[in-house]
Amino acid sequence: MPKAVGIDLGTTNSVIAVMEGGRPEVIVNAEGARTTPSVVAYKGDERLVGQIARRQAALNPKATLFEVKRFIGRRWDEVKEEAARVPFVVKEGPGGSVRIEVNGQDLAPEQVSAEVLRKLVQDASAKLGEKIRDVVITVPAYFDNSQREATKQAGEIAGLNVLRVINEPTAAALAYGLERKGNETVLVFDLGGGTFDVTILELGDGVFEVKSTSGDTHLGGADFDQRIVAWLAGEFQKEHNFDLRKDPQALQRLIEAAEKAKIELSNASETTISLPFITFDPETRTPLHLERTLTRAKFEELTADLLRRVRQPVEQALADAKLSASQIDEVILVGGSTRIPAVKRIVKDLIGKDPNESVNPDEAVALGAAVQAGIIQGDSNLGDIVLVDVTPLTLGVEVKGGMVAPMIPRNTTVPAKKTEIYTTAENNQPGVEINVLQGERPMAADNKSLGRFKLEGIPPMPAGRPQIEVTFDIDANGILHVTAKEKTSGKEASIRIENTTTLDKSDVERMVREAEQNAEADRKRREKVEKRNNLDSLRVQALAQLDEQAGASEEAKQKLKAAADEAEEAVRSDDDSRIESAQKRLEEELRSFMTAAQQGSQAQASAAGPQAQKQDDDVIDADFKPAD
Ligand code: ADP
Ligand code: MG
Repeated sequence: MPKAVGIDLGTTNSVIAVMEGGRPEVIVNAEGARTTPSVVAYKGDERLVGQIARRQAALNPKATLFEVKRFIGRRWDEVKEEAARVPFVVKEGPGGSVRIEVNGQDLAPEQVSAEVLRKLVQDASAKLGEKIRDVVITVPAYFDNSQREATKQAGEIAGLNVLRVINEPTAAALAYGLERKGNETVLVFDLGGGTFDVTILELGDGVFEVKSTSGDTHLGGADFDQRIVAWLAGEFQKEHNFDLRKDPQALQRLIEAAEKAKIELSNASETTISLPFITFDPETRTPLHLERTLTRAKFEELTADLLRRVRQPVEQALADAKLSASQIDEVILVGGSTRIPAVKRIVKDLIGKDPNESVNPDEAVALGAAVQAGIIQGDSNLGDIVLVDVTPLTLGVEVKGGMVAPMIPRNTTVPAKKTEIYTTAENNQPGVEINVLQGERPMAADNKSLGRFKLEGIPPMPAGRPQIEVTFDIDANGILHVTAKEKTSGKEASIRIENTTTLDKSDVERMVREAEQNAEADRKRREKVEKRNNLDSLRVQALAQLDEQAGASEEAKQKLKAAADEAEEAVRSDDDSRIESAQKRLEEELRSFMTAAQQGSQAQASAAGPQAQKQDDDVIDADFKPAD
């Protein structure tokens, strides 16, 4: 069996690794490098991927695509601001999706990521001497359903069989072998090229539970490079009165030199930046050269504000996990930028512990993904580790009155499957709409709608009779499938939550925070909605009784009908006191109507209540409710 590999599909760089003799190892690419820039460039018919694409970025800004991970699986209205930050054209695609326009052609972010995956796998296949098909791909812990699904699709577009999509911090913890250590609380500090993620994980019995995530979606190594570029260009301008940033050739060289200098300063206390023939003097046309020495101290001065920005997310992650720094058992560093000495210093200072640095920070995620691939393939060296991830937010459906009926609670280990029976709220209701929701708030409108679908063709039946079986099935990748089936007719409808909508990390954080803040107000609103729903279902029951007890006296029918009409108006008015009095009146009228009807037909003693609804049941979307 060909080996399965692990892939860290990074915002800036990607890495591929495989299990060799019981240990994960990085596979070098065709250029001999251990990391491959996640950059794809289009030049005529040619497609360049990796370092070669990156090297011509400043010269070909409209057709060199980088940081495409920011767009994958997201909706246009969520990334408008992000789109304005990149030099290439990002625009709205079909159905509110995101497309990248290159040379008149519209590309989906998945297609671009697929190019990176294809190169990684092709190079690795050549190195291993066998064709790789099975892969495990990592994603940030805060990636939602559609971002995970889109990442998986990128793999499929690249012709791969994606065995599993796992969280980057989980993979990093696996690379450190932390799953063997028993119960531990781990803080994963990941500072990459353009993003900063802090994740607190709790490990125990093979369960990797994400306790909290925080970060900064616009902080990474490239910002540090930019500071050096600005400094070099500023110094040069003072001397020669010429802004190098206006010349794309010169800018490309500056960016490369800045990153190189930054990397050197991780090991040396000073470095020399030398760029001969960087440009020509605009007046004399004589060549100009750039040469500068940069010390680590100067570098830290240029980046002091960036360094300060890593503190807050760490504090936030601790607060969200309700932990103090001293309760963290282990800190692991992930991402190339954690090699910067000042960054390490800050981490140590924040947590009061030396970070664990036994694994290369820019390789840990891919190595862990390879371990996961080995586990799935049953690699005997790995023993019997079982790994589980958990759902970051509660998943549920919208029910009557705009409320949420939770199906799979937050922090449930995946894969998970849950089936509930619902029913209709109206007589002869022909269909129901199922709105799939993600979030912690009790009202549907305050949560994220992941998708909607309709189940139609329900045969005419009184309210409460149909048995609508709704199943939520979330696979090991965190991808959700929802099906609804009406049992008497066998009608079925389903949805696979795809690229329709997403939540980004700040949304997740915000929603969790808001849920806490709004708990009290939500409870009141919920009570109000429940009252209204109870009255409405009682009204529907009353109407059903009017139909069924055709033999009742005209007078009794009139009275019940009048009470039902009042109920209908009260529900519409949304006035609490009116709802309460209408509820009382309708209950009384229904009771006396039933008593009269039963007395009138002793022979049919068992005719009472075919509708097995409890009053406090939820009803989906004004026409749908859980059955008993
Ligand atoms: P991502 O996860 O965002 O794709 P990586 O983890 O590969 O990114 O981090 C890439 C960043 O790490 C780049 O900005 C790169 O310059 C930086 N980096 C790599 N090695 C070093 C080093 N030795 N010192 C400082 N920064 C480094
Ligand atoms: Mg990374």
